[in-house]
Amino acid sequence: MPDKLEDIAPFDLVVFGGTGDLAHRKLLPALYHREQDNLIPEGARIIAVSRRPFSDEQYRDWARENLKEHLSEPCDHILERFLNRICYVSVNVRENLGWQDLSAKLAGFENRTRAFYLSVSPDFFGPICAALGEHNLVTENCRVTIEKPIGKSGTTARLLNETIGAVFKEDQIFRIDHYLGKETVQNLMALRFANVLFEPLWNAAHIDHIQISVAETLGVEGRGGYYDTAGAMRDMVQNHLLQLLCLVAMEPPESMAADSVRDEKLKVLKALKPLDPASVETNTVRGQYRSGASSEGGAVKSYLDDLGAKSSQTETFVAAKLEIANWRWAGVPFYMRTGKRLAKRVSEIVIQFRQLPHSIFPATAGQLASNKLVIRLQPDEGVKMQVMIKAPGPGNMRLKEVPLDMSFAEAFQVRNPDAYERLLGDIIRGNQTLFMRRDEVEAAWNWVDPILEQWASDPRPPRGYTAGTWGPSSSIALIERDGRTWHDDENECC
Ligand code: NAP
Repeated sequence: MPDKLEDIAPFDLVVFGGTGDLAHRKLLPALYHREQDNLIPEGARIIAVSRRPFSDEQYRDWARENLKEHLSEPCDHILERFLNRICYVSVNVRENLGWQDLSAKLAGFENRTRAFYLSVSPDFFGPICAALGEHNLVTENCRVTIEKPIGKSGTTARLLNETIGAVFKEDQIFRIDHYLGKETVQNLMALRFANVLFEPLWNAAHIDHIQISVAETLGVEGRGGYYDTAGAMRDMVQNHLLQLLCLVAMEPPESMAADSVRDEKLKVLKALKPLDPASVETNTVRGQYRSGASSEGGAVKSYLDDLGAKSSQTETFVAAKLEIANWRWAGVPFYMRTGKRLAKRVSEIVIQFRQLPHSIFPATAGQLASNKLVIRLQPDEGVKMQVMIKAPGPGNMRLKEVPLDMSFAEAFQVRNPDAYERLLGDIIRGNQTLFMRRDEVEAAWNWVDPILEQWASDPRPPRGYTAGTWGPSSSIALIERDGRTWHDDENECC
């Protein structure tokens, strides 16, 4: 059911890190769009919190300027209506200052939905939650949202979960993974569970293998300080890629209720076959970009130069082969890859079906390609099914592979909402279906931790790859030694 204004009661959304990169690039534009769609009720307030000493007016000026930069055609009167809901409070978390001001701002509004969004360094998650508890700002109808990364390992994630759990109940904690808010990711569930067509084929008997690729063309872009402490495994695989894998591989949940979906995702994570040190060597590849060319052709610097460092063991690329040890997926490899400064910006899931058991067609008809379902998350969200048809025209039977292609932008002439719009709406409504539960996060670390430990004990640096390529050649070898290749749209027939 689409969001309806009358279903949303006035709320207070408190955004810690209101002057940060995520707030100005994603959160404020997403909230503006909700305003534009008339989905923010009269009286709802957005309270931006950061360290710098802004007045409400100064913050609104700052926000206005940033929104004009990030929105394509903002409407002046909607923008002003939106800005008028925003006020600003200065809190210095490190110095423990400003909490009284925040308490005063929230006083008298205890009965409405109160949502805290922690868009700040993860080091502040614990201290902010503790301070919210100490100042009695956690109400019955309250929620807290935290951004990735949730911990740097299973141990630190558990500690963080416990610290937050001491103040908020699990059904008040929204661990955001914005990939889950993408239209196509939700469409993956619709495709699987709203059609009779796919589910009978969705298993080892019919699927040869699955690929999940999240490729970026950008480098670390001024976020090198954070990135160098994380790397691609912690920044992308532990959360986004494993979450996508869960949605592809999970059993049909009982319903779309948050815990039904999350129970099924958890079973997938628990069934991931752990990699011992020898299989880390054979089943994973870590790389780091060297200088090269951007996707537009200009020269780009190496990771080390971007970072301004002489050396770093941090991986900017990961490829891995995973196995899910259960009845549905036994023997079906899942190949994943993600990296920065790759050849093309693309995120997609590829379901490669098995070959036909027997061909009735003569050799002159041409080669039979197996069916393939490609679910594109970005840049052009859509679904494509590769099928075999008879090539048109007289003469002998000739077979041709063609795509049944559906681009969502073309199919629906509506604006494609950003994932944060959907997720912010869910936070206000209290719907946790698209948010990670504590046990999921910890189960994902259980698979990731041994790999990180093995890499940390290996003195060899990550394999270098030239910026603007598809990563180290060993990532190509990882899949090709199984007689398979990474999907590349440009090599597909049309
Ligand atoms: P950022 O640009 O570095 O912003 C940090 C924010 O924290 C600023 O608003 C800053 O306020 C505030 N801050 C710093 N020290 C503070 C203190 N002592 N007390 C109170 N506030 C303080 O960070 P970001 O990139 O927006 O990231 C925010 C969170 O989102 C992080 O957890 C990050 O890992 C996660 N995340 C970010 C992205 C992204 O694309 N940026 C993507 C995914 C996840 P002042 O400006 O007043 O100093």
